[in-house]
Amino acid sequence: MNKILITGGAGFIGSNLTEYFLNKGYYVVCLDNFATGHRYNIEPFLENSNYKLIEGDIRDLETCKTAVEGVDYILHQAALGSVPRSIKDPVTSNDVNVTGFLNMLIAARDANIKRFVYAASSSTYGDSESLPKVEDVIGKPLSPYAVTKFVNELYADVFSKTYGIQCIGLRYFNVFGRRQDPNGAYAAVIPLFVKQLINHESPKINGTGDYSRDFTYIDNVIQMNELAMLSENAEAVNTVYNTAVGDRTTLNDLMHYLKKYLSEFDPEIANVNTIYGPNRIGDIPHSLASIKKAEKLLGYKPSHTIDKGLKEAVQWYWENLK
Ligand code: NAD
Repeated sequence: MNKILITGGAGFIGSNLTEYFLNKGYYVVCLDNFATGHRYNIEPFLENSNYKLIEGDIRDLETCKTAVEGVDYILHQAALGSVPRSIKDPVTSNDVNVTGFLNMLIAARDANIKRFVYAASSSTYGDSESLPKVEDVIGKPLSPYAVTKFVNELYADVFSKTYGIQCIGLRYFNVFGRRQDPNGAYAAVIPLFVKQLINHESPKINGTGDYSRDFTYIDNVIQMNELAMLSENAEAVNTVYNTAVGDRTTLNDLMHYLKKYLSEFDPEIANVNTIYGPNRIGDIPHSLASIKKAEKLLGYKPSHTIDKGLKEAVQWYWENLK
């Protein structure tokens, strides 16, 4: 039986990967310190004999070494997300996202794993204005978080060249879906807006609402992780891929869709006002990915447009947040 280590497995993306791969018959080890993840995300797995939880911190090399024992593949998701969090506390973001990442690479190298797939980020495009984003054209980072994610790519590249370990980085573009945390100061826009709308509170858009993002449903991200983990195409490894849909939606359009789908459950939601505030430091105006590289080298085909993904996500939040 193949064994996968999912770091950050108690978080949004990690717990979705865990659920998927357990259902496919893999043995899954989760390494998480619950900094931003939740026990309720992993509760359904605790009784599964193919699941093991290691409560620990990737900033500790020995913990990483223990976690990779006997592992075939690593899906490295553990990190401190959020641009504003990294602006407030760059040292902790760096410790977790860079030192923790390096520890995981060292542990992976010494354990002879088959492949190291890691969560990179669209923030690596930084101040580059070119659209759509293609993997080879990046700008300068606009936040400490973006620096950490770019450094991850540099380390992975050097480790693959120097030690021969197989690495693939997935530059996630604004992922959303079931189990994404709507609470806390650094909540992502979709779960935050959904929670506010369900409670009839006015969501606040930073700026005029014409900024756009390539919002990517979680099932597309799961697909990319599986393809990256198992690809037998020699040209497909030791590189990075945009993990997105290849379509962009403005925040105003996003709000329109959310109200439309939520008002099917509660018609009053259609009347909740939106508030507009100043733009946030470090936010880029537009983000749109080219997914051609993933289509060509990995055979990626997104299963969910934003519309389809939002419908599913809204339904999940309605059933689970009420
Ligand atoms: P999340 O906060 O829900 O999950 C991160 C998980 O990592 C949490 O369970 C947290 O407890 C764990 N973690 C944090 N610090 C740790 C440490 N020191 N040791 C062990 N575990 C630790 O976030 P997510 O949205 O699921 O993000 C997963 C990954 O994807 C992150 O690397 C993030 O940077 C990246 N990413 C996410 C998005 C997105 O839109 N969600 C976009 C780009 C990149």
